[in-house]
Amino acid sequence: MHYQQLLESLRKAFPQPVSDPVHDGYVVFSILRALDQVDALKSQTPILGQPTEPDYDAARAARVAGEGLQLEAVIPELVSYLQGMFIWGHPRSQINVVPNPSIASVIGVLLPLLYNPNLCSDESGRRFSEAEVRATAMAAELVGYDPRQSGGVFTFGGTGGLLYGTKIGLEKALPGTARNGLKESAVILASQQSHYSCLNVANWLGIGQENVICVPTHLDNSVQLPALEAAARDALASGKKIAAIVATMGSTDAFGVDNLRAIDTLRRRLAEEFALPYLPHLHADAVIGWAWSVFDDYDFLQNPLGFRGRTVRALAAVQHDIGHLPLADSIGIDFHKTGYTPYISSLVLFRDAKEFDLIARQRETMPYLYQSGNHHPGMYTLETSRGAAGPMAALANMLLFGKEGYRALLGHAVEMAEVLREQIESHPNLTVLNGENYGPVTLFRAYPDGVDTFAVKAQERGDPAYRQQVLAHNEYNRRIFERVHAEALAGAGVVISLTDCYRHTDFGDPIVALKSYVLSPFTDENRMQSIVTHVVAARKAVDEGVKGAR
Ligand SMILES: *Cc1c(COP(=O)(O)O)cnc(C)c1O
Repeated sequence: MHYQQLLESLRKAFPQPVSDPVHDGYVVFSILRALDQVDALKSQTPILGQPTEPDYDAARAARVAGEGLQLEAVIPELVSYLQGMFIWGHPRSQINVVPNPSIASVIGVLLPLLYNPNLCSDESGRRFSEAEVRATAMAAELVGYDPRQSGGVFTFGGTGGLLYGTKIGLEKALPGTARNGLKESAVILASQQSHYSCLNVANWLGIGQENVICVPTHLDNSVQLPALEAAARDALASGKKIAAIVATMGSTDAFGVDNLRAIDTLRRRLAEEFALPYLPHLHADAVIGWAWSVFDDYDFLQNPLGFRGRTVRALAAVQHDIGHLPLADSIGIDFHKTGYTPYISSLVLFRDAKEFDLIARQRETMPYLYQSGNHHPGMYTLETSRGAAGPMAALANMLLFGKEGYRALLGHAVEMAEVLREQIESHPNLTVLNGENYGPVTLFRAYPDGVDTFAVKAQERGDPAYRQQVLAHNEYNRRIFERVHAEALAGAGVVISLTDCYRHTDFGDPIVALKSYVLSPFTDENRMQSIVTHVVAARKAVDEGVKGAR
C-alpha cells in the first residue's frame, strides 16, 4: 500500500484540526463505545467484571505488530484492562485514600489531553497556564496563605511536593547546594507516622535515607514534641543542617495530625538559640488533611449542614490543627486523595513564591525554551514537560463543589466513619485503634473470646509478656480480613482493607489493623453496619476453624 493511502486512514484516527462535526461525532461515539463496554462489566459488586489477577507473563510476551488495528478493535483491548478494577466510588468500597473522580474533574482532564498544553511555559500552555495560577490561588486562599504572595506548581504527587519543600529547604540550610552539590550533612526531621516518601526524597536528593530522623509519636499518632526537640538539638549540636521539618497533617493510615503551631514555635526558638543563619524549612505534608480547610469558616455551633454531634466534634477537632497550615513554609496538597479528582492532581504551595528563585535555573541552560510568553514555571520545576490535567481537574472540582460541597462530601465521610466507630465500640470483641484520630478512616481489630478489649490495647503496646499474643492477634485479624475480603468481592459486604503495621508496639512489633477508609459519597449507614456484621461473622468462622483444627 502506498503510504499516502495509509496516511489517509490514519488521519481519521486523530480528532480533526478543523471543524468537522461528522468526525467529531465519530470521536465522541468512540469514547461512548468504550464507556458502553465498561458498563457491561458493572454488577452489584464493587469491582468491574470478575476479580482478575494481572497476567505479567502474557504481558511480557507482547510485541508490536507489523500492522496496526482499527480504532474499533483497539477499544475492546483497552477496555479489557478494567476487568477486575475496583470501583472506588461504590458504596461497598472502603479500601484506601482513593476517591472517585467527579464528572467535572474528568472533563478537566480530558480537555488538556485533547489539546496537549505544556505548562512549562505559557508559550505552550496558553490559558491552561492561567488555569494553573487560578487553581493555585484558590487553593492557597483555602489553606490560609495570602494568594498574592504565595505561589505553587502542580507536580507528580505528594511525593513531588515533599521533594520541592525539602529541596528548597536544603538550599536555605546549605546555600549553593543546587550548583555545587551537597557538601555537608543535612537531616530531615519527621515523625514515625510520616509517609515513606520522606525516605524517598532523602534518597533522591542525596541527603541519604539514614539522615531521615523519624521521631516517635503519641498514641494519637502526632509527633512527640519533646522527642522532636531532642532530635533537632542532636542534629544541630553535631553540626548537621536541617533541610526540612516535615509536619504530617493527616497520616496515611490513621489520619494522625501533627501540632504544626508547636513545631513552628520550636524551630524559631532553636534557630535563635543556635544562632542559625537560616530558619529550618517547615513543610506541611497535608496531602490528606488539606481539604479540612473548608471547615476553617464553618460555624460548628450553628452547624447549618446538620451534621450529628459526634461528626461536628470530629470535624472541629481536625480543623483546629489544620487551621495552622499557614505557619508552614510549604504545603503539599493532593486533590487526588481528598479532593475527588483523578490521579495525578498534586499541588505544592509556598507561602512566599520568591522561594522558587532558590532553585531556578539560568535561562542560558535551556536554549530551546522561553523564547516568548512571560510565565515560565519550567525555569524551576523538576519536570520539563508538565501537562495541565492536574490543575484543570483541581479547578473543576473547586468550581463544582465550592467550600460547601466539599464540606458535605467530607462531612458525610466522617459521619459514616463515626457510625462505624459507634458500632465497633458497642461490640465486646472489637475495638477501634485510632479513636483519637477524627478522619474518615477507622482502624480496628477483632479479638478472640476472653480478651478484654478495653485492656488489650495497652497490653499489646507495652507488656513484654504479651508479645506472642500481639503476633497471634495479627494473624487472627489477617484471617478475618481474608474472609471478609473474599465475601465482599463475591458481592456480600464491604471491601475494606488491611494495614500490616498501623504502628509498632514499644518492642518494635507491627500491629496489624483492619481498615475502613470512607470517601465515596454513595456510602450509607446500612453499609457501615454491614461491615461489623461481616467482620463478626468472619470472626466466628475463624474461631470455629481454629477449634475444628484441634
Ligand atoms: C499518599 C501520601 C504521600 C504521597 O503522595 P503521592 O501523591 O502518592 O505521591 C505523602 N504523604 C502522605 C501523608 C500520604 O498519605
